[in-house]
Amino acid sequence: MTAAAPRIVVLAGGVGGSKFVVGVREAARRRWPDAAGGTRAEITVIANTGDDLWLSGLRLQPDVDSMIYALAGVNDTARGWGRAGESERVATELHAWGAGWPWFTLGDLDLGAHIARTGWLRDGASVTDVVGRLASRWPLGVRLLPMTDAEVDTHVMTDRGRMHFQEWWTRHRAALPAHGFEWPGIAQSAPAPGVSEVLAAADVVLFAPSNPVVSLGPILAVPGISDAVRAAPGVVVGVSPIIDGSPVRGMADACLAAVGLPATADAVGRHYGSRAKGGLLDAWLIAEEDASLAAGLGAEGLRAPVRPLWMRDLDSAAALATAALDAHRRS
Ligand code: GDP
Ligand code: CA
Repeated sequence: MTAAAPRIVVLAGGVGGSKFVVGVREAARRRWPDAAGGTRAEITVIANTGDDLWLSGLRLQPDVDSMIYALAGVNDTARGWGRAGESERVATELHAWGAGWPWFTLGDLDLGAHIARTGWLRDGASVTDVVGRLASRWPLGVRLLPMTDAEVDTHVMTDRGRMHFQEWWTRHRAALPAHGFEWPGIAQSAPAPGVSEVLAAADVVLFAPSNPVVSLGPILAVPGISDAVRAAPGVVVGVSPIIDGSPVRGMADACLAAVGLPATADAVGRHYGSRAKGGLLDAWLIAEEDASLAAGLGAEGLRAPVRPLWMRDLDSAAALATAALDAHRRS
């Protein structure tokens, strides 16, 4: 009656990635519904942990938490990040004590997640275990895996020296000229348990329209993950986070500039590359505003279907996810 439900794997960062994953879940519910209002499709999200950090003795995982909050529907959609109904009483006290970073505010509800996570880590749980426990609070409808169990926090090389990514991003708003990113320890890290297996079993692998440098970059830099994507039996489809030469929101252009890439949809597509030519993607969805770039990408072996790429609400995010799931069908 209905087509067989696929196994879908999404590589994703935080806010942009989670909007897309909410769309994928909705698209799957509509096309492959189950009796309980969910989907028969299996959706696994491989989350970026390159944004993670230690602050005031607590382990923070901004992209993991953004993903969980968005899928649970408890995120602050007006502000665009964090929990809805957040308060900052504890942060006020921390600032009064001179603890932590004055420019990095930890919300009270968010702190609940950080304390739970840190406690479990101190009890000996792995990052995979901790992400699984956090994700089990709400019925998310997806399986959430960290990219690795190792700590590989992002550092930025700037004109004023090396600093943690969060300092550059949040304190300096990515305005301090940067020359590159490093993930100390990543060369010795391994994919988290299950990551290689889900890629090897996937019918479709999707690259969310996440920051190519600091969200998908670290995931793909974990030894073994890029090779697993190249070898994946399913179709691999990416969605451009750049529309008409600009990141839709945020400062991804500063990250691209730091690694010498222009903020254009075709430059990012070429950065991932075509699987037919040793790269990662079978198709790269670009926006209608960038339709003129499709022919050039196609000539280089990367099919670039032109689709509406704006995620304004659940319907547009689900439509984008459907376009990505269908990108292997030529049209
Ligand atoms: P972060 O980890 O919270 O910074 O979020 P991600 O890295 O997952 O995603 C951030 C990126 O999402 C931004 O740099 C934007 O380029 C992209 N983005 C946000 N909204 C949209 C949208 O509606 N459409 C597309 N195509 N990209 C978007
Ligand atoms: Ca991020």
